[in-house]
Amino acid sequence: EVRVRFAPSPTGNLHVGGARTALFNYLFAKSLGGKFILRIEDTDLERSSRDSEEAVICDLQWLGLEWDEGPDRKGEYGPYRQSERTHIYRQYVDKLVESGHVYRCFCTDEELEAMREEAKLKALPPRYMGKWGCASQAEIDVELEKGTPYTFRFRVPQEGSVTIQDLIRGEVSWSKDTLGDFVVLRSNGQPVYNFCVAVDDATMHISHVIRAEEHLPNTLRQALIYNALGFPMPQFGHVSLILAPDRSKLSKRHGATSVGQFREMGFLAPAMVNYLALLGWNDGTEDEIFTVDQIIQKFSIDRVTKSGAIFDQTKLQWMNGQHLRSLPTEELASMLGNQWVKAGILSEYQEAFVNEATELLKNGLELVADSEEGLLNILGYPLHLTLASNQVKEIVDDNITDVVSSIVAAYDSGELQAVIDGDHDAWQKWIKGIGKTFKRKGKRLFMPIRIALTGRMQGPEMGAILRLLREGETSGIITEKGS
Ligand code: GLU
Repeated sequence: EVRVRFAPSPTGNLHVGGARTALFNYLFAKSLGGKFILRIEDTDLERSSRDSEEAVICDLQWLGLEWDEGPDRKGEYGPYRQSERTHIYRQYVDKLVESGHVYRCFCTDEELEAMREEAKLKALPPRYMGKWGCASQAEIDVELEKGTPYTFRFRVPQEGSVTIQDLIRGEVSWSKDTLGDFVVLRSNGQPVYNFCVAVDDATMHISHVIRAEEHLPNTLRQALIYNALGFPMPQFGHVSLILAPDRSKLSKRHGATSVGQFREMGFLAPAMVNYLALLGWNDGTEDEIFTVDQIIQKFSIDRVTKSGAIFDQTKLQWMNGQHLRSLPTEELASMLGNQWVKAGILSEYQEAFVNEATELLKNGLELVADSEEGLLNILGYPLHLTLASNQVKEIVDDNITDVVSSIVAAYDSGELQAVIDGDHDAWQKWIKGIGKTFKRKGKRLFMPIRIALTGRMQGPEMGAILRLLREGETSGIITEKGS
């Protein structure tokens, strides 16, 4: 049975890296009919918090990555929070003491420090060189009798190597002697991270461990613990880092990096999921726009790449636009309309106006909030006379003041409004008239009119824009802010 897990440490918000790890696990499970488990790794009590846990859960839910077992739902292998599994870790420590894989270490901090110093002098990696790995029962009993504090240490075999067939990176191998005997349970009873992970993955019957590349060094310790516990090893897949466009590690200084930030900026969850899936995976074609169901259909871990994936917000925005436009018309209209009311541009949600405006503004739209500017621009009517005419000069090699003043006059006299309220022919005729008066046609005619009326050099069909304006004007839903 395929059982995978996402195991966040609740020490902050869910970042795009974590979200992608969660997504790959989710896709892997769904594509193979397996189970997706959420496990909260809160062994670091100082840095973990319930608030962070809730935030992470909220972000995962927003993305739609529903889990089958987790702290908030029933499952056979719970509890699903490490802080609630201490008794389980304890039980496995006892088992491993019995089998000789783990021993009590009574070394004091000073002794350990001395070992580190000694290793440093010999330019060796710091490792445990104490005597407790081969102490006699009598020696142990003496310390127990005295009540000397002790940790439990894992006995690392100093021969041979550990090799895994990583699903993404291929064969990875470590020589065991690179590692000294390490602590699995502290003297205060706190289990150590790698021990918890191995025990949890084993006892939760995780079949595939898909996680970030940065956890690769942990795999050696975890594999040793796994073997000692006598559980069959899961398969590992270590996903590459997410990089910023400059190929450095993605961090806050590159802008938004947490899922919540993108949600607040108005990104759609399906677009986010689509984008995250493409950070290191592709379906083998040039296709890029997928629904989550399509990705589930196509997903295969063999197509996850070994190289780092670049997180490019421009691309994400473009993708969001694609997803926005693929929404059913009413849904998109309701998003935009509500945004305009919320932003105070419209006093109320008027369906006809909102639908028409949506139709006009959806092209090229990337974020719902950007439609505010688009709408304000249209409503910035009458006339964007301040626009420097030399901007137009570049395009039409012309001065537009004469045309623009004539349009202002037409507006002031009400002539323009009447034309807009009339039919398409009236509009065409009016434009032709201007062309005649000023001896202009084609681009030299349309560009000045467009700029005068919309303040832009391109955009939706002008007649449609003007009709929308009139509708707004006559219906009275345009607020002061909007006009
Ligand atoms: N708790 C670890 C983290 O938040 C994940 C460990 C794992 O996936 O094995 O990065």
